[in-house]
Amino acid sequence: MADKKHKFSMNVAGIYYVDDQCIACDACCVEAPRFFAMNDNDGHAFVKLQPVTPEDLKEAENAMAACPVEAIGNDG
Ligand code: SF4
Repeated sequence: MADKKHKFSMNVAGIYYVDDQCIACDACCVEAPRFFAMNDNDGHAFVKLQPVTPEDLKEAENAMAACPVEAIGNDG
């Protein structure tokens, strides 16, 4: 389970975030490329845009479900 105390500072402010459990598998960026991107220098994903609409939220939830290590949180 993702922990907001360990989220990356690159995440844009909002309820969704990636924490330091990320293994850079790229799944969230494939599932929801509008909201997740990879920091190739540091080897982890981050939230680049917070979802707003119901469609956005579904996409972000799909990315969460695709994460193999539960590194994506949605609790702010
Ligand atoms: S799906 Fe999870 S482990 Fe994979 S890049 Fe995204 S946050 Fe990291």
